[in-house]
Amino acid sequence: MKQLEAKSMVLLHHHLKALRLPTITAECEKLARQAAADNADHLTYLLQLCELELLERERKAAERRLKAAHFPSPKSLESFDFSARPSVNRLLISELARCEYIDRRENVLFVGNPGTGKTHLAISLAMAACSRGYRVRFFRLTELATLLMEARDERGLLGLKGRLAKLDLLILDELGYVPASKIGAELLFDVISSAYERTSLIVTTNLPFESWTEVFGSERLTGATLDRLTHRCQIIETKGESYRLRDAKARISKPAAGERGASAKGQEPRNREMEGGKTSS
Ligand code: ADP
Ligand code: MG
Repeated sequence: MKQLEAKSMVLLHHHLKALRLPTITAECEKLARQAAADNADHLTYLLQLCELELLERERKAAERRLKAAHFPSPKSLESFDFSARPSVNRLLISELARCEYIDRRENVLFVGNPGTGKTHLAISLAMAACSRGYRVRFFRLTELATLLMEARDERGLLGLKGRLAKLDLLILDELGYVPASKIGAELLFDVISSAYERTSLIVTTNLPFESWTEVFGSERLTGATLDRLTHRCQIIETKGESYRLRDAKARISKPAAGERGASAKGQEPRNREMEGGKTSS
């Protein structure tokens, strides 16, 4: 291939910038040298450049989707120990990771005691959805209630609801830790009922259904919320002992060399927290 003159090169970079093709701009010269060495034809060279640009765009979009989802910490299904949680059907979780329930606008509800992996599973499924191109947002339920009440006071409610309506998947984590106020409960109900058959929800809770009135206040609101949430919903129970507690017990019974004192002290408040039951996890 003949070398492009320096002036034409400047022009090419200018055009590529105007066309918003940053990866092609960055890679075109290196790839041209490679193509010349490989004796590749022009169309093969063009194809390689287009592929690189598309790959980089997809990578950046995935990065943006992950950031916009606001996960508290990344979790994956690979790091979930299914043998420690036999009540959770691994096949069902793998099927959910394929995200067809999102296309069908169905919901997933994780019910179980603190520390049994509900948030871990919810984030793993939500991250799988992100990587498949779905728009996802994670909230602790109390955080969303606060945000809704603030938006209402500042006349920003319509804007916030508009942003929620653009999502494909909304995660409401920790339903049940703090009872919402009456207005908070009504605003949450409004979000859940607007999502009905439009946006999939993943909800995690440590409360059995009969105790949901503690969060929503009135039986009427609780009934209406449950009705919408559980229609077309996979309910997954994470039965058994807290994973954290199990982990802590294992560490206490088998401390690493030189760690005996520190580890036992470090575990103390945590064990108490688990015994207390309804604490944030
Ligand atoms: P929950 O939301 O039910 O209170 P979490 O999902 O927050 O519980 O789990 C507590 C901690 O234990 C997290 O760090 C989580 O990653 C870990 N964990 C829970 N269950 C498992 C499991 N089966 N395999 C691996 N890690 C787990
Ligand atoms: Mg949790």
